[in-house]
Amino acid sequence: MPLDTAATPTLDALVIGAGFAGMYALHSLRDRLGLKVQVVEAGDGVGGTWYWNRYPGARCDSESHSYCYAFSKEIWQEWTWSQRYPDHAEIRRYMNFVADKLDLKKDIRFGTRVTSCRYDEATNLWRVTTEKGESFTARFLITGVGCLSTANIPKIPGLESFQGDWYHTGTWPHEGVDFTGKRVGQIGTGSTGIQAVPVIAAEAKHLTVFQRTANYSVPARNAPLSDEFKTWARENWAEIRRVTQSTVNGHPFTIDDRSVHDVTDEELRDLLEKAWTKGGLQFRANFKDVLLDETANVKLADFVKDKIRSIVKDPETAAKLADIDHPYAAKRPPIDSGYFETYNRDNVTLVDVRSDPIARITPKGIQLHSGKEIELDIIVFATGFDAMTGPLLKLNIEGAGGKTLAKEWEAGPKTYLGLQVAGFPNLFTITGPGSPSVLCNMPVCIEQHVEWITDCLAHMRANGVAKIDTTEASMKEWGEEVERAANVTLLPKVKHSWYLGANVPGKPRVFMPYAGGMGHYRKLCAEIAAKGYEGFVLERERAAAAE
Ligand code: NAP
Repeated sequence: MPLDTAATPTLDALVIGAGFAGMYALHSLRDRLGLKVQVVEAGDGVGGTWYWNRYPGARCDSESHSYCYAFSKEIWQEWTWSQRYPDHAEIRRYMNFVADKLDLKKDIRFGTRVTSCRYDEATNLWRVTTEKGESFTARFLITGVGCLSTANIPKIPGLESFQGDWYHTGTWPHEGVDFTGKRVGQIGTGSTGIQAVPVIAAEAKHLTVFQRTANYSVPARNAPLSDEFKTWARENWAEIRRVTQSTVNGHPFTIDDRSVHDVTDEELRDLLEKAWTKGGLQFRANFKDVLLDETANVKLADFVKDKIRSIVKDPETAAKLADIDHPYAAKRPPIDSGYFETYNRDNVTLVDVRSDPIARITPKGIQLHSGKEIELDIIVFATGFDAMTGPLLKLNIEGAGGKTLAKEWEAGPKTYLGLQVAGFPNLFTITGPGSPSVLCNMPVCIEQHVEWITDCLAHMRANGVAKIDTTEASMKEWGEEVERAANVTLLPKVKHSWYLGANVPGKPRVFMPYAGGMGHYRKLCAEIAAKGYEGFVLERERAAAAE
């Protein structure tokens, strides 16, 4: 049964983006509720972030058996991952497999970038226009645009004069880049940069890494999965799903209930050595207080800094790499495949741009404030993203009464549960700011949001509700909870973190993701729905039509 009866909209729902979020939203709304759904996607294929992020070394930091859809046992059991951490190409193969299996592509308009979304109060419909001049009309607008999909390219003077080639990792050429015989400069040492460095160094004539903030990293220990593990993962769908859905970060392991202070220094060293050997993001899960207690955190931080100094042979380079100014894992913790070891190569140089910042890009390369010029053939910007709000603001969203999202979020994002913004009825933001999103293994929080939205739309249909909105009061209360949850942790202590928007000049400094834990957030959302969508405003069909 179509959702709308009065205004006969073209679509029940328009979904923006064909990554993990948009694909699942299409399946869930179309195949579970029978709604008429259209997805529009800027890329020419499915994959979302993995469609664009094809830089050297691009690989997921979540383990493959948890970085996938878990809603279908059949899909889970039909797909077999080859490695502990899937690379970008394998993830795209997986997403194409799912899209084909669920027959999703017929309802996805590829190569279509949305330029504006406007809510029409008279008809209670969203009108969405695209770069190609097409327009769509839909009762519900659902964004699945990702949190890290708007490239942050720093405005360094002179870039246009550079005679070589330059690339941002988040919009990497599909045909790849040939570094053979080239002098390459890479700006940025976040999770992306740390993955790219070893791969570029192995190919380039010389790699110069421009580091502004030194970063921790733990070995990923990527490897092909054994047949035994593959069988275990296939057979334990329900249990793996249970764990990922109940933990703080949506990973397939729990955080140990032990404090760093519960163990002796010798026991601590032993535990951390084992965790270092095992590798991966689980390193931080050995103790419950790593992100809660600075004195606990410093012990892990010191361990990693010692490791850096023991791996990197040149003491000056080692000192620059280990000169880390923030608590361990208070910025998104990278994991790597030979990152620090790469600085032992003769063709790799580290430049500390905190002490000698980049002044400009010249026709020949990069010039520092000291006047030193480093000649380059290629510049790689591993400089991150205008995270969380950037992809949503690019959609030029206009709500009721002509209010724009850009104006509403001038001082930082305001949402209720990261799902809705007051004054933008029937708009849902999958993994929006104020939800666990980037603090969680993404497919896990995406599934929770899509399922919550699906249940909400089913509830609306069953109860003759045409419009759902939230209120300023709900957003204020939720904003305070987001702030409270962050302040319990060490996360907001890092002033140069993209969680706070600090990487983009002029962006308001607001801690954006919800740090209260995915398991807790899931329960909260379920309780709110069970209480008749507390904090939301639901309007019945006749009331909405009478406006
Ligand atoms: P990022 O963490 O924001 O790192 C950007 C890097 O560029 C930082 O080192 C930053 O320095 C530097 N930078 C930015 N502007 C600069 C400038 N003007 N001059 C010099 N240096 C500059 O971005 P990212 O590495 O792309 O990672 C973003 C997020 O994407 C990650 O945190 C993670 O959530 C996700 N990611 C996931 C995976 C995965 O799962 N496989 C892989 C990669 C990324 P400062 O630190 O000083 O700002």
